[in-house]
Amino acid sequence: MTVGEALRAAAERLDATSDTARLDAELLMAHALGVSRSDMLLKAMRDPAPEGFAAFVQRRAAHEPVAYITGEAEFYGRVFAVQPGILIPRADSEAVIETALSASPDPRRVLDLGVGSGALLLTVLAERPEAVGVGIDASAIAIDVTGKNAIALGIENRLDLHRHDWRVAGWADDLGSFDLVLCNPPYVEADAALDAQVRDFEPATALFAGPEGLDDYRILIPQLRALMNPAAVAIFEIGANQADAVGTIAQAAGFAVELRRDLAGRPRALILR
Ligand code: GLN
Repeated sequence: MTVGEALRAAAERLDATSDTARLDAELLMAHALGVSRSDMLLKAMRDPAPEGFAAFVQRRAAHEPVAYITGEAEFYGRVFAVQPGILIPRADSEAVIETALSASPDPRRVLDLGVGSGALLLTVLAERPEAVGVGIDASAIAIDVTGKNAIALGIENRLDLHRHDWRVAGWADDLGSFDLVLCNPPYVEADAALDAQVRDFEPATALFAGPEGLDDYRILIPQLRALMNPAAVAIFEIGANQADAVGTIAQAAGFAVELRRDLAGRPRALILR
């Protein structure tokens, strides 16, 4: 079978599992060939399909996310290494980047609470070469992966990473203060019905936040002021139906709140000043 034929067959098979079956097949094929997707599409369609492809399609058909199979995900035009234990960066979160870059055009010190793959913090540092960053996460895997992604982007010398759990008192001591705080906390309701590719593969600790999905906002937002310089802003990602609830938490903590939407027009980020 050629690459082209194998792609057609795989896209048909993955249609039952994935909304992006053809794209998934192409990403898995490029990974099996060890080339970029564009090189594959331009040069390799008549080559024989490589051995490893069938096993990748099998894993995807069992709902494993493409990003865990290939070990990488694209975010805001850059490639980030990911692995199980790390939330896969989502296009929705690019709204947090757009919001941060416009609300805080020239930050010197940037903090990311729950740094994960590093997608938010490292993107802002890459876009703002004068800035330095601090990332914290409770997960050792997150600290490791963010460190590797920083090296791949050549910005490891502007980054400090700490393994801290904000459920444990004292986590914010000694971090200093910041001009911009980024945070995509867990915000999914405990009993939410998630797709199998999320529910069965991505880390529950990065997704779920109590019965209303608000637990982490309730912990973090009242502690923010000590971490923020006088003119600082904090940008929180939110679930599409959480703007009012999180806005209320923020106002009770003394912040002025502004809502931003994602490309699909859904509420996605809150600016706290
Ligand atoms: N948007 C993600 C999802 O629905 C959730 C991310 C999060 O909890 N921070 O899968």
